[in-house]
Amino acid sequence: MKKCIYCSREIPQESLECKHCGETLGNAAKITKIDNLCAKAGEKADKEIIEELELMRRFLVSSQ
Ligand SMILES: [Zn+2]
Repeated sequence: MKKCIYCSREIPQESLECKHCGETLGNAAKITKIDNLCAKAGEKADKEIIEELELMRRFLVSSQ
């Protein structure tokens, strides 16, 4: 068992989706979220945030 990072309830180790809160888990889901955040930050042209998100994204992709 592992803990859901969103609701901290226990879910089976191999779960890709939390059965309690319905959030998707794992790097693929995180990357999608980062992409969404990037798009939002891009609208405001916030370069610092975009750079940080891109670093995080690169790390997640390489550790997949
Ligand atoms: Zn959850």
